[in-house]
Amino acid sequence: MAEVVPGVHRVDGLAGGPRAANVYLLVDDVLALVDAGLPGNLNGIARYVASLGRGLEDLRFILLTHAHPDHTGGAPALREKTGARVLAHRGDVQAGKNGPSVAYLRVFGSSPLPLPFLRRVPADGLLEDGDELPILGGLRVHATPGHTPGSVCFELKERGALFCDDLIVEGRGRLGKNQAYPGSDLAAYRASLERIASLDYEVLCPGHGAAVTQQAAQRVRGLVRQAGPYGLTWRLLG
Ligand SMILES: [Zn+2]
Ligand SMILES: [Zn+2]
Repeated sequence: MAEVVPGVHRVDGLAGGPRAANVYLLVDDVLALVDAGLPGNLNGIARYVASLGRGLEDLRFILLTHAHPDHTGGAPALREKTGARVLAHRGDVQAGKNGPSVAYLRVFGSSPLPLPFLRRVPADGLLEDGDELPILGGLRVHATPGHTPGSVCFELKERGALFCDDLIVEGRGRLGKNQAYPGSDLAAYRASLERIASLDYEVLCPGHGAAVTQQAAQRVRGLVRQAGPYGLTWRLLG
């Protein structure tokens, strides 16, 4: 069990180990996921939900922070099993003849290949900046482009928690900037990071690594002030 704040769990025991993309489970009258992790996560997530005395049939939303396949790969199977709606920002969604899909660099959007990592991730609806979803007192969407065009953060005001997507990564207790990927936009990334630094929250739930449980906003402000490289290099050396 890994409850970060009341009603918010970082699902443990999933494929890929502790450095894989995080899957957060939001537990209210209904259930929601923030990201779905790797393909093959269906059973692990079902087991975790069952350990809380709940069933996957309560899953209504699969909220995707962005289109990178290590965050979205688990979504199609969960969607099929439960009928939950997959929601993502239009910046990471493309139209196709089978309907809209979540797509990274247009690569993973419409592949007919049966490879699990290349499975199409259908999008059932779009997230917009300022949207508020009716979960745990209100989950606010912040559009934070840069890491990908459609990256979003989710703010759970009542719990003082922010899901920060891959905008910021955590490793060995440190926070790092995380910009440099194909398709990333450094100017947009910086603006998004400053926006996130201007919010108030105690707890930060990153896309990778452990949650920061105290004074998270202050630490993000410190990170923004730090000069130093953006991107993967920092992540590897940091
Ligand atoms: Zn990631
Ligand atoms: Zn990413």
